[in-house]
Amino acid sequence: MVLIVLLLGFVSWGVFDIRLSFFTPTQWHLKNRPAKKVVLTFDDGPSEYTSAFLDLLEKYKVKAVFFCIGEQVEKYPEVVRRMVAEGHVVGNHTFTHKPKNIFKKQALAEEIRDTDEALKKVGVVTELFRPPFGITSPPVAGAIALTGKKAIGWDIRSLDTVIKDEERLYRRIVGKLSNGNIILMHDRLGHTLKVLERLLQYLKDNNYTVTNDLE
Ligand SMILES: [Zn+2]
Repeated sequence: MVLIVLLLGFVSWGVFDIRLSFFTPTQWHLKNRPAKKVVLTFDDGPSEYTSAFLDLLEKYKVKAVFFCIGEQVEKYPEVVRRMVAEGHVVGNHTFTHKPKNIFKKQALAEEIRDTDEALKKVGVVTELFRPPFGITSPPVAGAIALTGKKAIGWDIRSLDTVIKDEERLYRRIVGKLSNGNIILMHDRLGHTLKVLERLLQYLKDNNYTVTNDLE
């Protein structure tokens, strides 16, 4: 009985903590954790805010990774073209981001393929996939295998969808910085844009290199 409880606990931990790579190989930091080198990743866009994010990244000469939702790609194709033109990396983050399709292998594989189609129309071919909500359950692992994707996680979760206070959000990210981090933020939030400006300045002042090369 105790063993079963322990096992169930461990399995659900594996589902919700992307860093464990429990069901599917997942990259959650830069290989070998190079000193003072980090990756900025933005999920759920493109949105009405994304152009302003791109302006800011351009100002600091920083290249990022954008995990785009297929539906949003169809809404803002020009923004995705701009990402590519300016040297950012674009990855797949499902077509609708709806929880109902995340727990079924075939439905999720379809979401990934539909997003690949939407991205192809704006000139993007990508093997990178970020699972919504960081869930890496067996159906997610199955869908990743079916579509030949590479799962990308993170080791700094900004929690910008929850933390609206800019000072708290900034402190949380900066306080966790170490070597080789992959940082998760969202380019659909106005307050994240403000925190990003402070973060970019901090990274610059402290001689961090920001890369979007995950190899
Ligand atoms: Zn998301």
